[in-house]
Amino acid sequence: MLSEDCGIFGVYNHSDSVSLTFLGLHSLQHRGQESLGVVYHNRNGFKQLKGMGLVNQFLKNIDLSRHRGRVAIGHTRYSTTGSSSSSNIQPLLINSYKGLIGVAHNGNLINAKMLKDNLRQKGAIFQTALDSEVILHLIAHSREKDLKKAIIASLKKIRGGFAFLFITEKGLCAARDPMGNRPLCLGKKGKSYIVSSEDSALKIVQAHSIREIQPGEIVFLEDDRITSAFFTTAIQKAHCIFELIYFARPDSTLFGLPVNQFREECGKQLARDSSLQADVVIAVPDSGNYAALGFSRESGIPFEMGLVRNHYIGRTFIQAKQLVRENDARLKLMPVENILKNKKVVIVDDSIVRGTTSRKIVKILREARVKEVHFRIASPPYLHPCYYGIDTPDENEFIAHRMDISGIRKFLQVDSLHYLSMNGLKQVLGERKNDFCFACFNGRYPQKVKIKLKKEILE
Ligand code: SF4
Repeated sequence: MLSEDCGIFGVYNHSDSVSLTFLGLHSLQHRGQESLGVVYHNRNGFKQLKGMGLVNQFLKNIDLSRHRGRVAIGHTRYSTTGSSSSSNIQPLLINSYKGLIGVAHNGNLINAKMLKDNLRQKGAIFQTALDSEVILHLIAHSREKDLKKAIIASLKKIRGGFAFLFITEKGLCAARDPMGNRPLCLGKKGKSYIVSSEDSALKIVQAHSIREIQPGEIVFLEDDRITSAFFTTAIQKAHCIFELIYFARPDSTLFGLPVNQFREECGKQLARDSSLQADVVIAVPDSGNYAALGFSRESGIPFEMGLVRNHYIGRTFIQAKQLVRENDARLKLMPVENILKNKKVVIVDDSIVRGTTSRKIVKILREARVKEVHFRIASPPYLHPCYYGIDTPDENEFIAHRMDISGIRKFLQVDSLHYLSMNGLKQVLGERKNDFCFACFNGRYPQKVKIKLKKEILE
């Protein structure tokens, strides 16, 4: 499956900003499980808390009562650029002559290599392998003496998908790319402001959502007030459709659309496009749950929980994986045989990337003695890599890149296979269809990307 790059969360003007930020990161854990960090400041200066792994594991060794400050930003990471080493944990913090500044970044900068080369020629020494570090060097090198102006001038120079949180000595600022490709929203809790990748994370800190940060907008939170500006007029909306299809939590509202409803509508559209006679609709949990529900509601075929997910599989289970080498999907998913046996089963998932897990799931269903398996995918075939912040394998690994639909059907060993079409997906989006990036399906990247330079972009 694909991996989201990161989740970011920030709190302005709250005495418990550090604890609230950790709570927010916990709610955004699905966006990155590799490492996490929080940067905050109080009258004694800036402090950093960083570690590898999950938020709750990290907090076992931290006494949060000793970490107090009124402003904090946090980041939970899955590496898209840079290796998995601790030096690449965000937020990054630098001390420039304009003052201390920290940054948490969700996304990928497609002109990072060119900017890095220019900055190196001017003497910049990069401490990490992250493209996120580029923005800090741009700010430090900016001719603008005022930090706000330096941030705006630096944002004008970068291209790609980004949502940034900056912590400065004065407060916090949040910025979103001119495509609105990565999500970022603003919330309020009493007199405090919260900024988060997803609005579902606001609920855990009992904040309410005010609005999304607009594409190309920068919001400053300082001196107990909020101000906003646009750092560019070249706004060309291209929200990441995969956020709605898979990455975001179903209880979030992203790009103005409730995620659970969008997924259910995709399932309904899929049922209209690929009607069939079957006994039961099941989901690949949890990713296919809402689309399967929609498929069932539209087709009239009953929805059942035919696969049960084990939520307690961690990275430490490598040994167990070796023991069940022939089908390690069984560690995560178990069939409910009395629902499946002798049935014509429609199984719905949100997407297929490599196809290897889907094939293992079909094998689990066959072992539960289903009569027929009909695979339905609630998005179009995944064909092209992402350059804006989603970690994708080499395109030769995409099953839809290597085989046609009939080949995929045979590889999965299913009786029928149907993907949601591009037209079907656009029908679900209705009037909003022109606001989205579909490049991983149709190869039409909203900003020109030098495809051959992917490795350099990610350097
Ligand atoms: S290419 Fe796909 S995954 Fe990447 S931003 Fe566009 S829609 Fe999202």
